[in-house]
Amino acid sequence: MENLIAKKLEALLRLQAIDSKLDEINKVRGDLPAEVQDLEDEIIGYETRITKFNDELKRYNEEISNNKNAIKEAERLMKKYEEQQANVKNNREYEAITKEIELQDLNIQLANRKMREAAAKLEKKEEQIDQTEKDLAELKINLQNKRKELDAIIAESTEEEEKLNKERDKRSKQIEERLYYSYNRIRSNARNGLAVVTVKRDACGGCFNVVPPQRQADIKDKRKIIVCEHCGRVLADVEEILVQATEKTRKGTAAAAKKKAEAEAKVAEEVAK
Ligand SMILES: [Zn+2]
Repeated sequence: MENLIAKKLEALLRLQAIDSKLDEINKVRGDLPAEVQDLEDEIIGYETRITKFNDELKRYNEEISNNKNAIKEAERLMKKYEEQQANVKNNREYEAITKEIELQDLNIQLANRKMREAAAKLEKKEEQIDQTEKDLAELKINLQNKRKELDAIIAESTEEEEKLNKERDKRSKQIEERLYYSYNRIRSNARNGLAVVTVKRDACGGCFNVVPPQRQADIKDKRKIIVCEHCGRVLADVEEILVQATEKTRKGTAAAAKKKAEAEAKVAEEVAK
């Protein structure tokens, strides 16, 4: 007689085994994919900053050159006024020209001050660009290394990952939609990615809380899908591990070990089915 529930539980266990292997692959990759992404984002940020700094640099250079021109123009006017001053006919004219000369002198002082300020800003900005470019170069080396590391890990596991994903597609289609949905929901809420577990040493294999004997008997019966009352994971089976017996009976160690081996073989056989 075929037990439909047992088949469903077996399918879930197989899917869980595949997902756990995929989880393991992702764990090996660890934070590397995220680190690479962060570095790429950071590099874009630095490049944008350097472009902005260079724009500012251009503006300061323009300011310097504009003020240089202003000084030249003021000096030219001063020279002209000084020549005019030598040929004035009266005091009033002399004073008017003197005022013009003083004004140009002020203009020159102002332009010089602005030029010095722009030059100071320019120097500071150049230092900033220099430092940012150094930081950027470091980031790029860092990224290169991380990418290499990630590529190597991915190359190592890609084949297996693809195989597992194909297998996963096949297996998941064999599970009814509602059950598959529940499986994914439980899995996404579980920290260790386990949605389907077995009872081991009288405890839930997901949260390690004790599963009472009657409940274990129901699980073994496989007449309905039973979930752990503590964590909500599906309890698909009870694994008979006779460790306690081995510890208790020193005299009967050999016998217990034999019994244990038999039990484990039985479990292995069931899993392989
Ligand atoms: Zn549990």
